[in-house]
Amino acid sequence: MTATLIKGKDIAAQIRQEIQQQVDKLKAEKNIVPGLVTILVGQDPASQSYVRAKQKTSHELGYHSIQETLPTDISEDELLKLVKKYNQDDKIHGILVQLPLPKHIDENKVLYAIDPDKDVDGFHPVNVGRMVIGEPGFLPCTPYGIQQMLIRTGVKTEGAELVVVGRSNIVGKPIANIMLQKQPGANATVTICHTRTKNMAEHTKRADILIVAAGVQNAVTADMVKPGAVVIDVGVNEIGRTPEGKRKLVGDVDFEQVKEVASAITPVPGGVGPMTITMLMLNTLQSAQRKA
Ligand code: NAP
Repeated sequence: MTATLIKGKDIAAQIRQEIQQQVDKLKAEKNIVPGLVTILVGQDPASQSYVRAKQKTSHELGYHSIQETLPTDISEDELLKLVKKYNQDDKIHGILVQLPLPKHIDENKVLYAIDPDKDVDGFHPVNVGRMVIGEPGFLPCTPYGIQQMLIRTGVKTEGAELVVVGRSNIVGKPIANIMLQKQPGANATVTICHTRTKNMAEHTKRADILIVAAGVQNAVTADMVKPGAVVIDVGVNEIGRTPEGKRKLVGDVDFEQVKEVASAITPVPGGVGPMTITMLMLNTLQSAQRKA
């Protein structure tokens, strides 16, 4: 079997078109422009490139977008003051603090200072709580994007055996929670695996839908996948550079082998990655719509 490719890039482009229509409508009918501030501390190249991509998309969609670039030695107090300033700014509907933060800053303290109604990354405990009990809030962008990919490619999730590899707060735990909700596009029977799981293959081989977010190249190989499974590879691992200096990326799944077993699979790059920024834009739009 050669699996169908689930092209996150194309699905993301489609969602962006829908966002654009909603943005135009919001402007025309309510004179409201979605506003997003991205806050970057320091000069980590990966963080810089993520923030650049978020700003670029936000500009393309016509958002009111602000980029705050702060020195590595900024104090926690100064950063908290800036977050509070944007909490009170009516033109800003989404606040994103790019992680990781320098060691002298308590990440949780900063994330928890963001107004939950502007927490478009969905990391604030209030939004985590809303997600768990199935109330409207902001879903974290990567898991939200994964669910949209499944829905939009017509993957049947109801009653499906869904196995997640990884239990981080930004991918593993939230995607597991989202997919077990008693809601359309979810209703799966969920198992979570991690580094203490015994005989992981026994679990992964039962999966109709396998979501892998381990951050380890080849964490999942073909012998761990049930024939016909849908495989979502969240991992991003750098395996070197091209002669032009571009990063060579692979996922967590042994793509070449697993695509011969699975019925559908996401590529890396071009799979989950493009969905993440798009869902950030959707969360920001929804925040502006709620305000309206
Ligand atoms: P993380 O915080 O490092 O968590 C990794 C999780 O995987 C942990 O729960 C760990 O278990 C588990 N794990 C690691 N190796 C394993 C193995 N061999 N078998 C079973 N479980 C294993 O990573 P993360 O933030 O969730 O990110 C995961 C990957 O997704 C990374 O490559 C990251 O770059 C990528 N990512 C991509 C996007 C995107 O937009 N495309 C967004 C976010 C993350 P323990 O808890 O037991 O340590």
